Amino acid sequence: MPKFSKRSCAYCAGRGKIADMGILPTWKTCLACDGFGYVYIPGSFVKCPDCAATGRRSTGARELVRCKRCRGTGWTEPTLAHNRV
Ligand SMILES: [Zn+2]
Ligand SMILES: [Zn+2]
Repeated sequence: MPKFSKRSCAYCAGRGKIADMGILPTWKTCLACDGFGYVYIPGSFVKCPDCAATGRRSTGARELVRCKRCRGTGWTEPTLAHNRV
């Protein structure tokens, strides 16, 4: 069993909710952490290089989507990302 660490959720910045930027901004439960505001991840995980640990990626359109690699948590396995931030 790997050791797990409690980390702040990147997608909602630890708030547990995210603002849905529609015409009328609404708050939704964060899907990355199920509204807890934090996630439990293996201690070996590193900041996700795909989204710069923000949990969000630009699609080219205006909206930001959850990073597929880290599923929005901002943390991912240290493979391939070893030499990056
Ligand atoms: Zn979250
Ligand atoms: Zn990511």
